[in-house]
Amino acid sequence: MVELRNVSVTYSNGVRALNNVSLTINDGDFVFLVGKSGAGKSTLIKLLIKEISPTSGSVAVNGYELNKIRANEIPKLRRTIGYVFQDFKLIDNMSVYDNVAFVLRSIDAPVKYIRRRVAYVLGLVGLKDKAKVHPNELSGGEQQRVAIARALVNDPKLIIADEPTGNLDPKTTIEIIELLQGINKCDTTVLMVTHEHDLVRRFGGRIISIYEGQVNFDDVI
Ligand code: ADP
Repeated sequence: MVELRNVSVTYSNGVRALNNVSLTINDGDFVFLVGKSGAGKSTLIKLLIKEISPTSGSVAVNGYELNKIRANEIPKLRRTIGYVFQDFKLIDNMSVYDNVAFVLRSIDAPVKYIRRRVAYVLGLVGLKDKAKVHPNELSGGEQQRVAIARALVNDPKLIIADEPTGNLDPKTTIEIIELLQGINKCDTTVLMVTHEHDLVRRFGGRIISIYEGQVNFDDVI
């Protein structure tokens, strides 16, 4: 669950990126976060992963009160969140398998568990038979599927997908959103940032729109 209460963020240059934002995203929701460039979307996301702190107001994510969180709890908070980027951010000299396994190796998960879990998430995204290939041998859509598998491998409560279809063609875009919707049906909350209004209209659901640092629309269409 995500809860922002009266959150404002003013950067050191005086720019007020968010202005008194309050919103709740319940467990299991699928939310499109829309708004034009400069509206404050990235600032909101950075708050959720505790990359920045609000100037005023409070933020809670997956049971952590971020105003009170201790430094040694921040990695734990981040493990409850899977992140999917527009440009995939895969490691080119690692196989698909290793790109996903890497996340679990970095937290010293048992080898047997890693083998089972990576196979499972690659299966979920439809890439079981691509485990041994390298990212540059894959299409853009397949690379984004690997990135989604990597985001899922820790079994996060929340997936933040930041313009995940920005580099993809229309057909692949729809496949990726359908994949995220399928993941959402298995009880993972999904927050997808996009500026593609056509997509949002096509899929519908809960839309939160930010305009000049304020929520100007939050409803289900
Ligand atoms: P979006 O992701 O919707 O494009 P941002 O959250 O990146 O919007 O930016 C909101 C506003 O805050 C913009 O005016 C932007 O220039 C400003 N901004 C973003 N990051 C910083 C920063 N680190 N320092 C100063 N101003 C920033």
